[in-house]
Amino acid sequence: MEPPLHAEACSSRLDIDLDALRANYRMLAERVAPARCGAVVKANAYGLGVARVGAALHREGCRTFFVAQLCEAGPLAGVVGPDATIFILNGLDPGSEAACAAAGAVPVLNSLSQVARWRAHARALGRTLPAALQVDSGMSRLGLPAEDAIALAADPALARELDLRLLMTHLACADEPGRAANANQLAAFRALAAHFPTVPASIANSGGVFLPADFHGDLARPGVALFGVDPGPDARGLRPVVRLDARVLQIRTVAAGAGVGYGLDHVASAPQRLATIALGYADGWPRCLGGMGGAWHRGARLPIVGRVSMDSLTVDIGALAEGDLAEGDFVEFLGPSQSLADVARNAGTIAYEILTRLGARHARIFVEDGNAEVVLPGENP
Ligand SMILES: *Cc1c(COP(=O)(O)O)cnc(C)c1O
Repeated sequence: MEPPLHAEACSSRLDIDLDALRANYRMLAERVAPARCGAVVKANAYGLGVARVGAALHREGCRTFFVAQLCEAGPLAGVVGPDATIFILNGLDPGSEAACAAAGAVPVLNSLSQVARWRAHARALGRTLPAALQVDSGMSRLGLPAEDAIALAADPALARELDLRLLMTHLACADEPGRAANANQLAAFRALAAHFPTVPASIANSGGVFLPADFHGDLARPGVALFGVDPGPDARGLRPVVRLDARVLQIRTVAAGAGVGYGLDHVASAPQRLATIALGYADGWPRCLGGMGGAWHRGARLPIVGRVSMDSLTVDIGALAEGDLAEGDFVEFLGPSQSLADVARNAGTIAYEILTRLGARHARIFVEDGNAEVVLPGENP
């Protein structure tokens, strides 16, 4: 699909396939049914744009959303409307109680002090406030220790002040199905959940969706799988959501002995055909891929030579026939030839990190139902 003209003001384009996103949500929702399926859209929907991603998921039937911080709830609330619930995973920062209540967001309370501050705010307002409780079942990151949660369950005043919508825990090793820690966390969570028999339970992130049904609880919370990333070692048939292409800025042939890029780290050992491409570390492309990794064009891999600059990198185009590539052409960095997982592996990181860095500086082209909408960098999410 050709983007409207103004996308041409950008030298790179990130295509975001909202049909694939919706198909992935459907697949995950079917997998956890009869449990419900929410969506984690923290960090601006993993970098892609929370307004458009959230709206597409809402059209697909998602009514429960999770963001990390209260400031991320605003742009989402505007598009998903009052029939959706937005949970704040990081909890309730001191001083944010009034803003959280006014936003209608539901904090995931992670400590007794958060619980106490939210209860105090409920008393001040003279009404109950919705809340989720997170318990730590073994990850030691966020959440109440078991004894604190049990003490709360025994407090008859709690229900007058807080309307508990969810009892949550988070798995440390859901992406490694063989780890005993998964069963241990599930057992610890179940023992605790028995103290809150009427509160819906939520355990599974993307990895947890592909663990046995015991892990699905009443509501699953996948994030990365929505965007087509397999959360564990096995391929799950998720559809890729992003594609990244960047333009050729200049083509040249250098003589043997020529240095390439900052530090002249690469020195041509023979005459070498090079293309400089409009993609750098300020675009979210890892600088550590200098001298490693590559782009793709017409089935050929174009290895990166020299360091990755802020706005550009240089590739060897010796694998292409003369005339196969011209100034202004796009080459593929993510797509059918190279997945997020491939790039992450080369860069020594995880697909989450590559994905969440991408959204800031490309023309984002959201495609849904045959329509394309272009969002330029700096335009709203
Ligand atoms: C980020 C997050 C998720 C989603 O994790 P994915 O691995 O991306 O599916 C779910 N729950 C909590 C508490 C999280 O922080």
